Amino acid sequence: MVDVLDEIETWAPARLREHEELLLRRQLHHVGSGSRFYREKLADAGVDLASIGTVEDLRRVPFTEKEELRRSLAGFPPLGSHVAVPVADLALVQATSGTSGTPSYFGLTEHDLRVWGTAGARAFYAAGVRPGDLVLHGWGMSKGFAGGVPAVRVLQQLGCVVIPIGGEAGAERLLTVAASLSPAVFCTGPNFALHAGRIAEEVLGRPASELGVQRIVVGGEPGGGVPEIRSQIETVWGATSCETLGNSDVVPIVFGECLERDGMHFVAQGLVHIELIDPETGADVPFESGASGELVMTALDRQASPLIRFRTRDHLEVLETECSCGRVGPKVRCVGRTDDMLIVRGVNVWPSAVREIAVAFQPRLTGNMRVVADFEGHSTEHRLRVRMEHAAHLTPIEVANVAAEVERRITQVLAFRPRLDLVPPGVLPEAGVNKTALVERPA
Ligand SMILES: [Zn+2]
Repeated sequence: MVDVLDEIETWAPARLREHEELLLRRQLHHVGSGSRFYREKLADAGVDLASIGTVEDLRRVPFTEKEELRRSLAGFPPLGSHVAVPVADLALVQATSGTSGTPSYFGLTEHDLRVWGTAGARAFYAAGVRPGDLVLHGWGMSKGFAGGVPAVRVLQQLGCVVIPIGGEAGAERLLTVAASLSPAVFCTGPNFALHAGRIAEEVLGRPASELGVQRIVVGGEPGGGVPEIRSQIETVWGATSCETLGNSDVVPIVFGECLERDGMHFVAQGLVHIELIDPETGADVPFESGASGELVMTALDRQASPLIRFRTRDHLEVLETECSCGRVGPKVRCVGRTDDMLIVRGVNVWPSAVREIAVAFQPRLTGNMRVVADFEGHSTEHRLRVRMEHAAHLTPIEVANVAAEVERRITQVLAFRPRLDLVPPGVLPEAGVNKTALVERPA
């Protein structure tokens, strides 16, 4: 007996594909009639939407870039020329939580919110969350991001009892709420989950593991799938920790880990069509174990702000295509942002991989780190500067020893020799409620 929220999560690829293509044709018809942005974009590219019937045909449609959406928003306020329904038909206007630039806004109808809810509910269910569970909500609530009201709606759609406190309340407040209400589930960013768990003893006089939380669900920033970070979250909370991933321009939760906790399943079958591409050439990369590429998403059932072949800039690695839980959606992990990838003397360097090394050196290091991009663009011929915090109370000799070890490890594992600065704890900004940037660009 396979325990999934929706049977579609177990459909064989051929059956799913047939279903997706049906939805794709319906969606493209809606986009063609409602979205001026796409009518013009596709006419410019010489693509007739009516000729797109299969996932292969879809590859003839040019990618949609974030920058195009920004221009569309600026040129056609309030929601751009890509909005495909009248503004009065919307239920919500949300903002995207991009790490750079000004926020973008997009609309959702009630129907769109239910679609988001369906994908998100599948991911929470995969993570062991059940209807009736009391859920403490700790993602950012105040900036209009998808982790706020839409995440609350996701949990309500699953049938959970939500406590919408939000991350801005701070770790102390969230811990106090947890101590009073004993939620079974806590959802937030991975760095914040770890931070809150660590200070529980100090704030409440008892460890987080005694608060009764059984499931942690993390997302909104990378890190939840890093083995050391996961095991620390699980230890301090005495709970399982599952990671989720999505994109707020399309659907904010598209992937989620099952309780095997070794990669995020694709769970948005029938809602989003996903592709992997080579970020340099745009070529298709099949979803096979070991493959990696940038995630591209097409909404299959979106009324308000539908996107076709949207480049998410998230770079994924496919871990497996089957699982003991019975879900057949490929399991992935996020390697980093295509935008964050640096090229150091010809070697691809992911700041998230550098962080994995910093975390592996705990407790001698705090795990907090930054890569310093003190050059134009993404490529440098110089040694890359990396800053990491050492733990308090290390002697100067211990600091020098750990620095030498870390430098050796980075050279061996990541194939570049860093210019490493170890700084005292507290020097680098702490993990916040929203995304923690791993790259520092001096002004
Ligand atoms: Zn699974």
